[in-house]
Order: sequence, then structure tokens, then C-alpha cells
Amino acid sequence: MNSPENLLLKNATVVNPESSQVADVLIQNGKITEVAAHIENSEAHIIDLKGKFIFPGFIDLHVHLREPGQEEKETLATGLAAAVHGGITAVCSMPNTNPITDNEYFIKFLVDKAWEINKAKLYPIGAITKQSKGEEISEIVSMIRAGAMAFSDDGLPLENMLVLRRALQYIQPYNKPIILHCENKHLSLDGSMNEGELSTILGLPGIHRACEEASIAQSIEVAKYFGRIHIAHVSTKGSVEIIRLAKQRGIAVTAETAPHYFALTEKDVNNYNTNAKMNPPLRTEEDRRAIIEGLRDGTLDAIATDHAPHAVDDKNKEFNLAAFGIIGLETSVMVTMQKLVQEEGFPLELIAKICSTNPANILGVHSGHVKAGYVADLTVINKEANWEVKDYQLYSKSKNTPFIGMQGKGKAFMTIVNGKIAWQEKV
Ligand SMILES: [Zn+2]
Ligand SMILES: [Zn+2]
Repeated sequence: MNSPENLLLKNATVVNPESSQVADVLIQNGKITEVAAHIENSEAHIIDLKGKFIFPGFIDLHVHLREPGQEEKETLATGLAAAVHGGITAVCSMPNTNPITDNEYFIKFLVDKAWEINKAKLYPIGAITKQSKGEEISEIVSMIRAGAMAFSDDGLPLENMLVLRRALQYIQPYNKPIILHCENKHLSLDGSMNEGELSTILGLPGIHRACEEASIAQSIEVAKYFGRIHIAHVSTKGSVEIIRLAKQRGIAVTAETAPHYFALTEKDVNNYNTNAKMNPPLRTEEDRRAIIEGLRDGTLDAIATDHAPHAVDDKNKEFNLAAFGIIGLETSVMVTMQKLVQEEGFPLELIAKICSTNPANILGVHSGHVKAGYVADLTVINKEANWEVKDYQLYSKSKNTPFIGMQGKGKAFMTIVNGKIAWQEKV
């Protein structure tokens, strides 16, 4: 990247989880060195950001980048470029690649390649169990040494609670999260949308909310005794209630939800739109409300996209045969700004918390603040920019998103990673 080493960002509103203020931000050699009302520096490249908002860099805890093995859907290069285009400075890549990312060599491959690509940061997630089969714990320690930041068998639930217990005990000294895809497969049968009145009308097999809630409740009771868990893609009101209660009980649990769960409902499936098919499925308006309240009161800690690229052929099928999952890296900030800030009045400090500070804390990385001494990973937002999602503008290799055609206000203006401009709006 050719952007200058030292940047002086002037006149923006600096948003931290505690408070916001209009200030200048000086960046030197990849770090924030000063945040103050007026900074002068003759060596830095000056950028006037009057009217814009500087957030600590947004971290997406849950992304499928498909490499190695399914490069026709996404590659590290396209996925990490899509991230910075969407205002996201770091992504956690799920290990359900082909082959499964379950050893140090694959982790190192990802770390090295992301470094060369030099767009968004990559925090790779290693598989909890070998081949994600849910049986034998993988080589967690050597993967941590190679750069793994978290562990998950995402795509599949970890059904054997003894394996979860062992994984939690094994990982305890390293302070890395175990991320759980909570789904009771015995209950979920072969459903393809939320089970309820609408699935009956549409004649589609349903996925009952109990699949998610029973699995979360069970995992929480194990975490109570053996360690910390992070729950992926929370979609139901019942799940929010279970997690809220667990936090009140002092159990070490954190949780994420995705923009589609607070922006859409099962009604978006109504015309058999396979781009509204994901697992867990879109739920009801009551669930959508509960997800928003869960984010507002801190029950849900983070917004993560579960970015899941699929080729056209995977989605261009009958609804119950189409692949699960939608892309999200480039629409996450836009949908969050429209649905949570514009429509729900979320304060910007809370957005900083759920998009940056909390994900950083969950991973144990020293970021998530716009303060001297922190790494200069920054998401600059234009709160007033109107947008419409258009497929041809997406950097991602796949275009499977129900948000195409959606309009709203507030989007990324500039993405800074390690003190360098990784993407900026063409003006
Ligand atoms: Zn999952
Ligand atoms: Zn996933």
C-alpha cells in the first residue's frame, strides 16, 4: 500500500465506548499517538474529516472466507478486500474450509497469505476437534502458536458435552474463546426455514427455535463449571433470555448476533427467496425485537456477519435444496447504521462497543479504542450518506444477499488498518 506512514485526521467526531468528542487523531508508524482538540504536525499527511465519525476498527468475529478449497465462492483476497470496503478492519475466519483448518500449517498459511494481501486483518479460527468431527480435540496449542485467535467447529454443533468440557479445560491457560454453533441436530431435522405458521403455509420443513435454545442452555450449564464460551449467531427471543439469565448468574458467556436477525424476519422468505435462507433461519418480528433489546442491554455482546459466500448455482435451486448462508461483510455497517442508529436510536458509543470493543475483548486483542497507545485500526463513518445495496458494487466474489435493493443512511467512508488507508470512498 502506498499510503503515507503518518496521518493526521482532523475535525472528526472521535467515538469511544465511553464517550465521543470532536478531536484530531495523530497516527505514527501504525499507532495512535495522540488524540486532542488541536494537533499540529508538519510531517503527517493531513486529512480533513469534518462531519465524519472515527470509530475504533470494526471486528467481525464470524466470517467464512472459503479458502482453501472453495475459491470459486470467495478467496482471502476478495474476502479481505470486501471487509475493508464494508468498513471492517479485522475478520475472524471460520475453519470449515476444505480441508478443515485444524492444524498449525493451515493456520500459518492463512496468516501469511493475509499479511501479503494487506487489506483487513485476519484472526484465524482453528477447529476445536480434528476434522470438526466433534470427537478428538485438535492441536490447539500449536495452532495458537501459529496465530489462531479462537476455536470453533462452526457449521456443526459440538454435541458431545464431554468434548466441550475437555476443550474448555485444555484452552483455559491461553484465554482464547471457544465459539459454539448451537443447534440440536436431533430437533432440527431437515428444516430450511423458521418453524411456524409461515413454514406451514409455504409448505417448507421448519427449524424449530428449540433447536437453538436447547443447545445454548446445555452449553451454558457446562460452561458454568469448566470455562468461557462464546455463542455464535443468536436468532431467537428465547436464546436472548437464556443468555441474559446466564450473565446474571455470573457464567462466563458472551454472544453475537448478525445484522439479518435484527433487520429481517421470516417474511423475507415469503417468495421462496433463497438469499433469505440461512442457519439459524430468520425468525419472527417478536424475535427481531428481542435481538435488538439484547444488543441494547448488553446481553448480546457483538455484531458478527456469519458472511457465507455461495456460488449462484448453490442458491439457484428449490428453497429446501439451496445452500444455507448469506454474505454480509459489505452490508454490516450500512444495515447497523440504518436499523440500530437511525431507526432504534442506538448511541454511537454503543455501536463502538458492539462492533469493536467487545469483539476485541472477546478475542483478547489490544484494540477497540481510539486512544493514544492503541493500534491505528479505524472505521470512519459518514452518518449522513444515503445508500442502496447494488450487487455490482460488491467486492465479494459471491452476491448472495437479501439486502440487494435495500436503502438506508450511514456507511463507511474510510477504513484504516495498521495506520494505513486500506480503502476509502471515492469523492
Ligand atoms: Zn454456525
Ligand atoms: Zn458460520
